[in-house]
Amino acid sequence: MSTAKNVPELFGSMVFNENVMKERLPKDVYRKLKNTMREGTAIDADVAAVVATAMKDWAVTKGATHYTHWFQPLTGVTAEKHDSFISPTDDGGVMMEFSGKELIKGEPDASSFPSGGLRATFEARGYTAWDPTSYAFVKDGTLYIPTAFCSYTGQILDKKTPLLRSMEAVSKQACRVLALFGKNVRRVTATVGPEQEYFLIDRDDYAKRKDLIFTGRTLFGAKPPKGQEMEDHYFGSIRPRVAAFMAELDEELWKLGIFSKTKHNEVAPCQHEMAPVFTSVNIASDHNQLTMEVMKRVAQKHHFVCLLHEKPFEGINGSGKHNNWSMSTDEGENLLDPGKKPSENLQFLLFLTAVIKAVDEYQDLLRISVASAGNDHRLGANEAPPAIVSMFIGEELQGILDAIEAGEDYTGHGKTQMDLGVSVLPDITKDATDRNRTSPFAFTGNKFEFRMLGSAINIACPNIMINTMVAEELRLFADELEGAADFKAAVLALIKREVAAHKRIIFNGNGYDDAWVAEAEKRGLHNLKSTAEALPHYTDEANVELFARHNVYTREEMESREEALLEEYYKTLHIEALTMSDMVREEILPACVAYEKDLADTVKVKKDAGVAGGMEAGLLGRVSALTEELYTKCSELDQAVADAPKDNSKQTVNYYHDVILAKMDEVRAPADQLEMLVGKKYWPFPTYSDILFYV
Ligand code: ADP
Ligand code: MG
Repeated sequence: MSTAKNVPELFGSMVFNENVMKERLPKDVYRKLKNTMREGTAIDADVAAVVATAMKDWAVTKGATHYTHWFQPLTGVTAEKHDSFISPTDDGGVMMEFSGKELIKGEPDASSFPSGGLRATFEARGYTAWDPTSYAFVKDGTLYIPTAFCSYTGQILDKKTPLLRSMEAVSKQACRVLALFGKNVRRVTATVGPEQEYFLIDRDDYAKRKDLIFTGRTLFGAKPPKGQEMEDHYFGSIRPRVAAFMAELDEELWKLGIFSKTKHNEVAPCQHEMAPVFTSVNIASDHNQLTMEVMKRVAQKHHFVCLLHEKPFEGINGSGKHNNWSMSTDEGENLLDPGKKPSENLQFLLFLTAVIKAVDEYQDLLRISVASAGNDHRLGANEAPPAIVSMFIGEELQGILDAIEAGEDYTGHGKTQMDLGVSVLPDITKDATDRNRTSPFAFTGNKFEFRMLGSAINIACPNIMINTMVAEELRLFADELEGAADFKAAVLALIKREVAAHKRIIFNGNGYDDAWVAEAEKRGLHNLKSTAEALPHYTDEANVELFARHNVYTREEMESREEALLEEYYKTLHIEALTMSDMVREEILPACVAYEKDLADTVKVKKDAGVAGGMEAGLLGRVSALTEELYTKCSELDQAVADAPKDNSKQTVNYYHDVILAKMDEVRAPADQLEMLVGKKYWPFPTYSDILFYV
C-alpha cells in the first residue's frame, strides 16, 4: 500500500460529492438539489430522477453493481440491504437502472429491527428516506445512500432522523439569539469531531477466545506481569504492523471523504486512536459509523482484529470516544469561540451560559446518552470521567463568570479590565494551559469536549441530547431578550442570574477524587452509577417535554427507545453470562482436570519411588480447591440466569445488574487464580500477556 499517492486526488474519490454533482448534473438540477441540502426543502420527483441516473452512472464507473439504503436502526450498528441496478430488457438482456423513486425511498422488511415495541407486527414494514445532506458513496461495489428509517405510521425507528431534527431545533433557536445581536443568519450548524479509540489484537489470539468472539471483551484473564504502569505506550512509537494498518486505514477513509487527521498510540498496550477533522454533526455521525466499520475490515487484512468494546481487558484502560462539539454559522463563525472584540464576547458568554444551564438541567440525559453495559466498566473507574456529569470551564472563564455574578469588575490575567457598567468585556484568551482530563464536559478553548462516550457508541444519541437541550435554553433566552429595552443590560442580568442558578455544575478540580463524589452529592448533582440506574430517567417528565417541544421525539418514541435500551442492556449481560459458563465447562474445567491428573500421577510416582517433597501435592490441593469453587460458582451463575425475571424490562435490567454481574465476578475470581497456577500448555486460550504483548 503506497502512501505516496496524491492525497487530494484520493480524498473523496468514492464520494458523490459537490465536485461530482457539479460535473454530472444539469445546472438547474444541481441548484435545486443544493437548495434541498441547505434548506431541507422537499425534492421534486423529476429532479430526483435526474440525480438518481447521474448517481448510478457515476457509481458504475467506480465499480458499483448494487445500491443500498444505508441506515442506523436502534442497534449500535448500521444496516444495509443490497439491490442490484440490473433491470431486464425486452431482448432477454439487462441494463443498469436506478430510478428517482428508488433513490428517495426504500422499503426494507423492517420487522426484525428492534423498535422497542413501537411497530406492531401487522404494520411490520418501515421505509427509508434519502438524506441528501450526507453524501452517497461507493464501498465494495455498492452505492451507499445515507437514509433515515421510519415506520409507516411515521414514527421514527432510527438514530439519524432525531439527530437531523435536533440540528434543526438548535439552528432555529441559535438564529433567533443571533438576530438579537443584529446578525441575520439563516442556519447554525452543530459541529462535531469525534476522537475514536480502539484496540488491535492478533487475529489468531482472537479466534481462540470465545469471550472476545461472542461479547467483544475478555470475561477471564489474570493481570499480566506488565500492564500500562510504565506509561510507555501513550504516544509511543508505532509498531510497523500497526503503522501499515493505520496507513491503509487513512487511505480507505480518505477515499470515503472522511477527514482522518491524527493517529497515535493510546495509554493501554495495543490501544490506538484516530481523530478526524470536525464537520457537521450529521456527517460526523455517518462518518464515525463508517470509520468503525472500515477499521474492522482493514484490521482483518492485516491479520488483526479491531476491538471497539469499551472494556476489552480488565485492569487495562478501556476505550472511549471524545465528542468535541460546537456550533457555527453558515458564514463560519464558531459561536463558542471567544472573539477578539468585546462585543463578540457578550454573545459568546450568552451561548456559554446556555450550554452551562443545559448541562445542569439535563445531566441525566447526558448520562443516559452514554449508558451501556460496556461503558459501565469505564465510567467512574478512574480511567474515564466519573458517572457524575459536571463541567470544566477553566480559570479565566471562571473568573469572568464570578465577576459577573458578583457584579464586580473583572481584573483577571492582569491584562484587561472589565467594567460591567459600560458593558465592556475583556479579551478572553484561549485557555491552552489548563487542560483537565478528568472532566466529563470540558471547555477546550473554542468547543466543548464531552468525554463520557464509550468507544462503540453511535455518537448520534449524545448529540441529539446536546443539540436539543441547548436549543431549549436558547429558546428561553431569546423569549426573554426579544423586546428588552436595554439589550446589553438584559443579557448581563440574564447571565448573572443563570450562572448563580447553575454554577453547581461547574467543577474545575480532579474528577477522579473521592472527595468529589461527596461534594457532588452536597451540590445535588446526579450520580447515576450504572446503566440500570440511569435508563429509567430517560422518560422523566422534563425530558419528554423537552423533546416534544422541539419536535425531536414524541412520548411514544421515547418510551420505545427506553425499552430498546433496556433490552440491549440485559441481552448483552445474558450473552456474557452464557459465554462465561460455556468457557468454564468446555474449556477451563477440562484443562484444570488434565493438570490435576498429571499432578496426581506425579505425586503417586514420587511416592512410589520414595522421593520426598510435597510440592506437587500442595499445588494439587490448591488447584483442586479452586476448581471446586469454580464449578460451584458456575452452577450458581447458571441457576441465577435461569431465575431471571422476564416480564418487566426494568426489573430484568436491575436483576442482571445486581445479581448476574455479581455472580460473574464470583466465577471469574477462581478462574483467574487458576490461570496463574495451571501450566501454560494446559491453559485453553491465550492470556493477557499473549494478547497484549504480541510482536
Ligand atoms: P485534542 O487535544 O483533544 O486532540 P484537538 O484540537 O486536536 O484537541 O481537537 C480534537 C477534535 O476537536 C478534532 O476532531 C477537531 O477537529 C475537533 N474540533 C476542533 N474545533 C471544533 C469545533 N469548532 N467543533 C467541533 N469540533 C471541533
Ligand atoms: Mg481530546
